[in-house]
Amino acid sequence: MPNPNSKPLAAGLYLIATPIGTARDITLRALDILAAADVLVAEDTRSLRRLMEIHGVPFGDRPMYSYHEHNGGQMRPRLMAALADGKSVVYASEAGTPMISDPGFDLARAAREEGFALTSAPGASAVITALTLAGLPTDRFFFAGFLPSTKTARRRALEEVSAVPGTLVFYESPQRVAAMLEDAADILGDREGALARELTKKFEEVRRGKLSEIALSARETPPKGEIVVLIERRSEKIRESVPEERLREQMQTMSVRDAVDFITAETGLPRRQVYQMAVKLSGEA
Ligand code: SAM
Repeated sequence: MPNPNSKPLAAGLYLIATPIGTARDITLRALDILAAADVLVAEDTRSLRRLMEIHGVPFGDRPMYSYHEHNGGQMRPRLMAALADGKSVVYASEAGTPMISDPGFDLARAAREEGFALTSAPGASAVITALTLAGLPTDRFFFAGFLPSTKTARRRALEEVSAVPGTLVFYESPQRVAAMLEDAADILGDREGALARELTKKFEEVRRGKLSEIALSARETPPKGEIVVLIERRSEKIRESVPEERLREQMQTMSVRDAVDFITAETGLPRRQVYQMAVKLSGEA
């Protein structure tokens, strides 16, 4: 229930996060904003109505507009006019946080550019929820959203993120996830990964293992529902073994010193480290 004593809202655009499954994952602040805003805007008005009904937030006679990627151009001037008129406008995605693989970016940018107040009431997002459950490092991560749906473009996009020094996070559809995992194992190497699905819902599940293992499991028992795929960063071992091979190659055609200079320049690794690698390789020869 929203706070019955909450103050009227100041004019401005309020971006609120909505649950990604369990309806009670809405925040109290988001409910307060929904209860008090002059204008309600949603990617999917039916979902927002249902959410407000569940939490006992009355609509009153307030206008509710739909705003999504296909009507943003027409709707923005109308919403900017409401803001110019001193109204408080709340915007909600169908699920999760606006702008995270969802509309809202152009709306927020327009409000900011026109000098209106812009506020965010944070809450659920599948990317963060998945990271907390996957068992992969969370100190650094890269959210890559949805990969392209065609195989060639998907493999190219995977190549682009291959060297990112952080856990990779993707949104994926159940129809494509097995093929995506197979491509990822092929392009990125057979790294550790996780497939997190139906988070905060009845059939919440996290499958962990090597990418090849999760891909096989996705072929054998196709996962249903909404899915996040997480992949560990390129391992230190891989990073170190690549220059070692390159160094061995160079040492066949140049002096140790020149080969060390060459690999130091090529990789950006400390010279001392490359030199020690060269000494080790000379000893093996
Ligand atoms: N704005 C949302 C957010 O903050 O997470 C994401 C919207 S995007 C259109 C929908 C995708 O998010 C789904 O296809 C799925 O990949 C992921 N997703 C959303 N809810 C999820 C859930 N409960 N469990 C797993 N993945 C979810």
